Amino acid sequence: MRELDRRRILSHATALGAASLLPARAAAQRATDGQAADRPAAALPARQEFVVRGAHVLTMDAALGELTAGDVHVRDGAIVAVGATVAAPGAEAIDGRGMICMPGFIETHWHLWTSLLRPIVRADDARYGYFPVTARLGPQYTPQDTYRSVRLGLAQALSAGITSVHNWAHNVRSPAHADAEVAAMRDSGMRGRFSYGTPQGLPNDQPMDIADLARLKREWPDRDGMLTLGICSRNVGNDPNPLRGNVTMDMVKKEWGAARDLGLPITLHTSGPSPVKLLDDAGLLGPEVQLVHPLLTTADERAILAARGTSYSMAPLGESRRPATAGVIQLGELMEAGVKISMSIDHTTTLNCDCFACMRTLYNLHQHRIGERVKLTSRRLVELATIDGARDLGVADKVGSLTPGKRADLILVRSTDVNMAPVGDPYEALVGLAEPDNIDTVVADGRILRRAGKFDALDHAQVMRDAMESAAALRARANWP
Ligand SMILES: [Zn+2]
Repeated sequence: MRELDRRRILSHATALGAASLLPARAAAQRATDGQAADRPAAALPARQEFVVRGAHVLTMDAALGELTAGDVHVRDGAIVAVGATVAAPGAEAIDGRGMICMPGFIETHWHLWTSLLRPIVRADDARYGYFPVTARLGPQYTPQDTYRSVRLGLAQALSAGITSVHNWAHNVRSPAHADAEVAAMRDSGMRGRFSYGTPQGLPNDQPMDIADLARLKREWPDRDGMLTLGICSRNVGNDPNPLRGNVTMDMVKKEWGAARDLGLPITLHTSGPSPVKLLDDAGLLGPEVQLVHPLLTTADERAILAARGTSYSMAPLGESRRPATAGVIQLGELMEAGVKISMSIDHTTTLNCDCFACMRTLYNLHQHRIGERVKLTSRRLVELATIDGARDLGVADKVGSLTPGKRADLILVRSTDVNMAPVGDPYEALVGLAEPDNIDTVVADGRILRRAGKFDALDHAQVMRDAMESAAALRARANWP
């Protein structure tokens, strides 16, 4: 990140943080945010014209297939040609030999605001578990903390080859917090959906801030089609965990109805007893609804979901850690039933952001439980992590495959690294062997955001320093031991 741009972001983040301490100035703060939101994203590199040459190209487009040695030409943020040899006079040539060139990963459910809680959350001690910590620390967040936390998570996403995220924001404490979430997404240069949720600790009988949701839709600061808006709903049904939020069907109808009136998609966790029948009986399921954590679905429910076009996001790294009583990963059953599925990170407080590990975990557990009865190939898992995610987020016409005419979200994965070489089947290598450290280059909408495993513009050190400062301050404000 250039120094001037870094100062702009810092002054923006500082303004956001200051506003949270002075709620009377909320309106003025929103005006400030609006000005900041209109500034050019100068911290981002320009969209370049380039051609990746000689890579093993996995287009993830059924008609185009793969090229063992091929070129991908990008101009003005779009893929203009894919082929064995593409003439691209004047374009910067990027040597793709020894690399797999593929669409960037698309994850579909991630609580980015929790990234700062790493120093506190523990997987091995329930007192410091994800839910008690997010419930206690969530109310302490300033918009600045939110900005820094989301930025930290997105920096990790980029370093792991993710080019689209679904920011499942269930701690939107004020309009300034909402703006901070979106500002961090926009400043990252990544594509994604921001799903507006309720703040941690909101009583179940109080609705989300529908007026501010409408305000954000009206003032939507994204100018280039990279970001979309949705809502995240609190749980419904008989969820035994009070810390997740659990609302009545009347509240669901009110909030989902408001989202639908605004033309926004909806996402919902289904941890605990499945609410699928309840929702379907109320006529609430449709293709604009995404559910998360399919661990306890029945055959009847899967048939309903397939008929309604409702999707399910699987977060295998966290789900595989849950007790058996909470259900099992049902990839095979969902595939058999034809339910629309995708893959997600969930959070990175105690889980790594690693799409290779997500695919591997799904494969391992599928083999463990179901095996050959439902055939699962490595290629199918790479689809799940790319084009299926694009379908889930409603952006498959733009990204998810290396198809000429689509936007240029792509990654280069080194196949010459010691854990990869010599590569045989590239899908096998990605699912069985690869790790985020193998990701060499990350491109989002034609902007080269990482090269040779390093950020091109983002100031890594500053992101870390700010995150550590905010984490320590949060901890102090919460009086956390
Ligand atoms: Zn979640």
